[in-house]
Amino acid sequence: MTEIVTTDSPSFSTLGLAPELLRALTESGYTIPTPIQAQAIPVALAGGDLMAGAQTGTGKTAAFSLPLLQKLLPLANNSTSPAKHPVRALILTPTRELAIQVEESVKAYAKHTQLRSLVVYGGVDIKTQTPHLKTGVEVLVATPGRLLDHIEQKTLQLNQVQMLVLDEADRMLDMGFMPDLKRILALLPKQRQNLMFSATFSNEIKKLADDFLTKPQLIEVARSNATNDNVTQKVYQVAQSDKEALLIQLLKDADAKQVIVFTKTKLTASRLSRSLVREGIAADAIHGDKNQQERIKALDAFKAGTVSALIATDVAARGLDISELPMVINYEIPSAPEDYVHRIGRTGRAGALGVAISFVSDDEEKYLVEIEKLIKRQISKETVALDRPSSRARSHGASQVKERETSTARRIPSKKKSADPWFDKPYEPNTQQDKNVVATRQINTKKAPVAALLGGLSRK
Ligand code: AMP
Repeated sequence: MTEIVTTDSPSFSTLGLAPELLRALTESGYTIPTPIQAQAIPVALAGGDLMAGAQTGTGKTAAFSLPLLQKLLPLANNSTSPAKHPVRALILTPTRELAIQVEESVKAYAKHTQLRSLVVYGGVDIKTQTPHLKTGVEVLVATPGRLLDHIEQKTLQLNQVQMLVLDEADRMLDMGFMPDLKRILALLPKQRQNLMFSATFSNEIKKLADDFLTKPQLIEVARSNATNDNVTQKVYQVAQSDKEALLIQLLKDADAKQVIVFTKTKLTASRLSRSLVREGIAADAIHGDKNQQERIKALDAFKAGTVSALIATDVAARGLDISELPMVINYEIPSAPEDYVHRIGRTGRAGALGVAISFVSDDEEKYLVEIEKLIKRQISKETVALDRPSSRARSHGASQVKERETSTARRIPSKKKSADPWFDKPYEPNTQQDKNVVATRQINTKKAPVAALLGGLSRK
């Protein structure tokens, strides 16, 4: 069960939510509103525009979905006529994965109402979405491009939209969706309520808010551009050529059941995923070159625990919500500091504890400086050196694997008690597939031991 940040609000019922929504929340295991929910729900129910600074994992989806559903409740009906179910609320998200997750949440919260929801996104045949759209839905979750495709094909009308949500607005701008957003917004009725959510507040975001929101109330649950306090952040200073061996060691020693590993490029993601699999680690890659089915398959396997390391690029990982993800590793740190905030937001969601480790080579130090400026804090650093070249490293060019003899280098052979209790937890396989993964790993561990020196990250 996810541990959540408590608020002054004792319960959801004091926020004035309808009984059918409260029932669904209880069934979802929510008892206490998160801070963003406690603040945003009353504002949104009162009908005003909202600009909310909420990091990923704060419970922002329910913060906008619940008031939206509540306001549409009087219009809920069981008519079979599509005309009785026009799109009344539009939720725009930057990525397909986020769109899917948001719509899953909306469906869960609306399960005791007659309100209908649907998600449309690119990368799949548009014809498969059209019949569902034609039956009529009150809440539509969409990525901007696919929404415009439907509008062009005249399979969708937006003239009855009363509420618009821009989720992860900063990311939409980063991904170049501004022209699409402008086109979509021009098609919506002028009279409507707008709710905008963003993890970071740049000048561009403020301009977007000025353009599209009317006298918005500003809500911030954490310092803007801050990172979750419940995520332990660490930097391992390591040569680029040592990173792969270090990652393998870390994944094997940490008994890491669910780790997202971020790379900058699709190529590195694919290559790394293959290398990990060769080492007996259940890994898969998720990036823009994979089609939607492949991405969903990889994500489902990761959620089910049959894949323990998901190698992802920034765009592909956007919006992933894997509950209680204990760890993210930045194999390469991002050149855009905002991406760092988004990446580490994958762990420590809804108040759970998380660890974010960044591998930083000398060339990447400059990006680290920018990140620390943005998050307004220093990240603790450890110099990591490989004890001796691994069999893997050798096959990739042993001459490149440089032994370091710096005084700060961690040279703790093994079996040191971890600083993070998570690493000391025994592995508890819960499915047969998990057991198979462990078996494969142990066989391979014997075959290809990698003696990286990682203080505090030993298997118990
Ligand atoms: P979000 O930031 O909307 O992506 O939510 C992050 C995670 O927190 C999701 O798995 C939600 O199901 C969960 N969550 C949201 N609100 C609550 C709550 N009040 N109590 C417990 N879990 C929650």
